[in-house]
Amino acid sequence: NQSLHALDPEVAAAVDAELHRQQSTLEMIASENFAPVAVLEAQGSVLTNKYAEGYPGRRYYGGCEHVDVVEQLAIDRVKELFGAEAANVQPHSGASANAAAMFALIKPGDTILGLDLAHGGHLTHGMKINFSGKLYNVAAYHVDAETNLVDMDEVERLAKEHQPQLIIAGWSAYPRQLDFAAFRRIADSVGALLMVDMAHFAGLVAAGLHPNPVPYADVVTTTTHKTLGGPRGGVILSKAEWAKKINSAVFPGQQGGPLEHVIAAKAVAFKVAATDEFKDRQTRTLEGARILADRLTRPDAAEAGVSVLSGGTDVHLVLVDLRKSELDGQQAEDRLHSVGITVNRNAVPFDPRPPMVTSGLRIGAPALATRGFGAEDFAEVADVIAEALKPSFDDAVREALAARVAALAAKHPLYPEL
Ligand code: PLP
Repeated sequence: NQSLHALDPEVAAAVDAELHRQQSTLEMIASENFAPVAVLEAQGSVLTNKYAEGYPGRRYYGGCEHVDVVEQLAIDRVKELFGAEAANVQPHSGASANAAAMFALIKPGDTILGLDLAHGGHLTHGMKINFSGKLYNVAAYHVDAETNLVDMDEVERLAKEHQPQLIIAGWSAYPRQLDFAAFRRIADSVGALLMVDMAHFAGLVAAGLHPNPVPYADVVTTTTHKTLGGPRGGVILSKAEWAKKINSAVFPGQQGGPLEHVIAAKAVAFKVAATDEFKDRQTRTLEGARILADRLTRPDAAEAGVSVLSGGTDVHLVLVDLRKSELDGQQAEDRLHSVGITVNRNAVPFDPRPPMVTSGLRIGAPALATRGFGAEDFAEVADVIAEALKPSFDDAVREALAARVAALAAKHPLYPEL
């Protein structure tokens, strides 16, 4: 029983290097966060050794008395956190949560209506070569070309035209809140079920800083690792009437043994998400995103061809529009990487460039808020980003900006105990 370093120095070195990367750079990928040490500890525990097919109290394996406690804690806590009637905490990821939810709600060949991937939707909301696009007949709604907001008139028109069995509300790249009541009304008007995928904004909902979709939707799916700040994984919340079908769609429909070590880490994350500290963190996340939006809509940014889709944000991220900039998404991502800021390039709606290049950036505040960033720090990092995206960028600017990034990283140490 050797340590990782003794047994496998190659893997250990890569893990160490990744820790150093996370500590020394500024993580602004909107879907990422830093899990607390207690979450890492639970996920790295001996629960990884245990088979537990089934559900608490109804397992197909012996020796499940302790993992039952853990899984029941996770279920009870997440139900309480979001006010849900039922919860399944076993999905290995957000994509598998969505697959299981759809498997429970509709049949192959049925029609789904979701936000177009190119306009901010997720792969699992009906992309052609994803399971969702292959198993189901897909209709997609869009954002309005002028406002960049989801066009609810189009949602209603497409719902009437295509008569979907399921409408999906949720997004991976959208800077505003959705109108869940309007989605419910449209779903009811055509007899469709409503699923909300709150993977991105679940942390904001848990903190009471974003409308909760649970009262409106038949089923709500989420990941646990984005704004929620837990381990990588998925959860399905539902009305009680769907619980049995959803449980059976997850196991044995889709998965075998649940990852009880990850479920333990989810339970810890749900406990954290109910605290005042977590609410403060989500408050700083929203504030940070608003500061980024403000600083990237000032005249000097506009001069550089940089703007912000929809003119601002109500959530944890901003979408930068580079269609008028000399930089494409790839070049802008590389430039920020060169000063120590990690973001991802992202297509803007109606993007003239291919998906591997794009004309946009998605920039998120959650990980830096977890690190302790406040308004002043977010203003500083926003100024660094704005400066880096200007045509005047050269090696001297790069060095100066990298030093400012290093100072911010040093001001807010990450995982000092590791
Ligand atoms: N749903 C949404 C809205 C997402 O943004 C994502 C991830 O980016 C997922 C689902 C899928 O989560 P995972 O990567 O855990 O499969």
